[in-house]
Amino acid sequence: MDRRHFIGQSAAAVGLLAGLSSQTKAANLQKAEILVIGGGYGGATAAKYLRLFSNNTARVTLIEPNTSFISCPMSNLVIGGSRTIAEITSPYDTLSKRHGIKIIQDSVSSMDPDKKTVTLASGKTLRYDKAIVSPGISMNFKSVEGLAQANKDGVTLQAWKAGPETVALHKQLAAMREGGTFAISIPEAPYRCPPGPYERACQVANYLQQNNPKGKVLILDANQDVVSKGALFKKVWAEQYAGMIEYRPKSNVIGVDAKTKTLKLEVEDDVKADVLNILPQMAAGEIAIKTGLANSNGRWANVNFLNFESTARKDIHVLGDAIQVAPLMPKSGHMANQHAKVAAAAIVAELNGWEINPAPVLTNTCYSFVNNREVVHVASVHQYNAAEKTFKTVPGSGGLSPAPSILEGIYAWGWAHNIWADSLG
Ligand SMILES: Cc1cc2nc3c(=O)[nH]c(=O)nc-3n(C[C@H](O)[C@H](O)[C@H](O)COP(=O)(O)OP(=O)(O)OC[C@H]3O[C@@H](n4cnc5c(N)ncnc54)[C@H](O)[C@@H]3O)c2cc1C
Repeated sequence: MDRRHFIGQSAAAVGLLAGLSSQTKAANLQKAEILVIGGGYGGATAAKYLRLFSNNTARVTLIEPNTSFISCPMSNLVIGGSRTIAEITSPYDTLSKRHGIKIIQDSVSSMDPDKKTVTLASGKTLRYDKAIVSPGISMNFKSVEGLAQANKDGVTLQAWKAGPETVALHKQLAAMREGGTFAISIPEAPYRCPPGPYERACQVANYLQQNNPKGKVLILDANQDVVSKGALFKKVWAEQYAGMIEYRPKSNVIGVDAKTKTLKLEVEDDVKADVLNILPQMAAGEIAIKTGLANSNGRWANVNFLNFESTARKDIHVLGDAIQVAPLMPKSGHMANQHAKVAAAAIVAELNGWEINPAPVLTNTCYSFVNNREVVHVASVHQYNAAEKTFKTVPGSGGLSPAPSILEGIYAWGWAHNIWADSLG
């Protein structure tokens, strides 16, 4: 039986069991306006799967300001110079051409959850019955004194949203003086992509080995220790980048002087470096905060994990990095893609009057390139726990590479091409 027949038949069966007229409920689904805000890993996947799970009957509009999708996963390789930005860029038009999703190239400047409308930067107002908000992260520049100005002056960069900054940071690295220091600062967790900064340090060191062998990488980590794949990264730093990468835990950067390229630390002495890749504290994307969805410390959005509906506002579902995660759930693209499928299935079910899946399961794998070919991964499975209304990792389900390998480098590219096709193709 193909998937469409299966979905169609289960739809009818569940509708009848619930004693509902499946025709009336299906009409609700077809009439509903579903707006998806943000075409990243969460939003693009949700838009596509809303169409697939509804047999292409749901009315889905995706609002995204960017003309194409640029992947953060693999973007550290662009900074390290072994890949180009074109290799991690995918078009959006398959979502409209193949899946019938209406795409509006714009950004949402405000939402009115009472009137159920959104206003676009262009001034247009759209109505919704269901909204999916997947805006990724915003940076709290105020958490590092002087950072906003240093960014404006082009002295500091984050490159924590893939795009022009990714290319600019590679250029800064390539232009660094001989024997100079590249400093990367890491905020206290939670932040987007737990292993991302450590992978970046490896990519920068890999570039320096080949182009600037006296250059150094300084990792200033506000956390107690390496947040993800710690033993693996430390072994690589000692064996592949001996004397090149310096790791300093409990080193919280609280200020930056753009003129002298000096970093102020909370406890230790000031540090000077040549390239400053300063990652401040992060929070949900601005539109989530502005709309009042960030009801966990004003920073992240609490959701009902069965359908990813905001606990602050009805009929708004929040996905991806913007949410307050369940224990041990990483802020990853893989996770955002999984949130999207649970939310899309639940929304289609709700609009059809079917029962929603009471026991969703999510998976995650994060690959990190330690040089331009060898990779390590961490994997986990997360099962919904009805008693505690959260996801819990399934005991024994996780996995960690024993050591970096070229084979995992092949798997990592397979993972990337698969998830791009799954989210956008
Ligand atoms: C260096 C690095 C490496 C990484 N490596 C990995 C990895 O190997 N594996 C992995 O799984 N994850 C990885 N990640 C994490 C991954 O990129 C994020 O977890 C993922 O992008 C989150 O998806 P999202 O949908 O929440 O946000 P995003 O993918 O950032 O998408 C948000 C989208 O919303 C749009 N948007 C924002 N505001 C508005 C608005 N007001 N109106 C309309 N649109 C809006 C943005 O333009 C953007 O396209 C990495 C991240 C970084 C920085």
